[in-house]
Amino acid sequence: MALKGKVALVTGSTSGIGLGIARAFAAEGADLMLNGFGDPAGIEALRAELAKTFGVRVGYSAADMSKPAEIAAMGAEIEASMGGVDILVNNAGIQHVAAIEDFPEDKWHAIIAINLSAVFFCMQAVIPGMKKKGWGRIINVASAHGLVASGRKAAYVAAKHGVLGLTKVAAIELANAGVTANAICPGWVKTPLVDRQLEARAHQEGISVEMAAQAFLAEKQPMLQFSTPEAIGGLAVFLCSDAARTITGTPVSIDGGWTAQ
Ligand code: NAD
Repeated sequence: MALKGKVALVTGSTSGIGLGIARAFAAEGADLMLNGFGDPAGIEALRAELAKTFGVRVGYSAADMSKPAEIAAMGAEIEASMGGVDILVNNAGIQHVAAIEDFPEDKWHAIIAINLSAVFFCMQAVIPGMKKKGWGRIINVASAHGLVASGRKAAYVAAKHGVLGLTKVAAIELANAGVTANAICPGWVKTPLVDRQLEARAHQEGISVEMAAQAFLAEKQPMLQFSTPEAIGGLAVFLCSDAARTITGTPVSIDGGWTAQ
């Protein structure tokens, strides 16, 4: 129960890594503000299940991370309903795969808005409250693609490299405010975001999704297995711990050796 009494906002927590992190925080006693898209009845069922399973307060904000005004309103809503944010996890993200010359303009703008600009606007919304409390944890879910590139992922790689830069700026600005800012850099994690890429590759190459998964791992990840959302959650809990209080401005890889090469 290391996080009892803390309020954690996890963007994009209706699915995948964000949900894994939210569950790990709730298991440590943190109250949650969920965010992300999905079927409203399914999200309400998830909200109620987390509250019941872990005995914590769980709210939900439908704020669209591509819209700064909705992010500001979400910050004000959490301040009013839960007393502010102690832990911010910027996790919401999308992907689009295409060569630079074919990359659609709307996808470029959407990826930069959600994967990069939202990280800035969410930090802007919560930092004053964290400074007032003299304690805070900011965890930005970047990617191995924040450290190295792959072809056909221009917007994603640019955004994730940008997230690492922003994380460093926040770490410096908050160094003596009791607030740390770090980035988690996962390699392949089996989530709906990756499932869509696996299905596209299986379709293109006329192979099974399982074969596409093996090909993805073999190309990038020496440890030929996916990380899990639960493991990313465990890392996020560690970054909130007292032992991690002087870890700041750092990209923490959890990538099966991807960026060791
Ligand atoms: P996912 O598709 O399972 O989940 C994405 C979440 O973001 C969902 O809850 C979705 O509703 C939400 N979201 C999308 N657009 C949004 C918007 N405009 N406003 C609010 N919420 C929005 O994906 P995931 O794999 O869990 O990815 C989560 C994060 O982890 C992303 O930032 C992604 O880049 C990063 N990441 C994923 C992997 C991987 O292998 N899965 C690897 C490295 C980094």
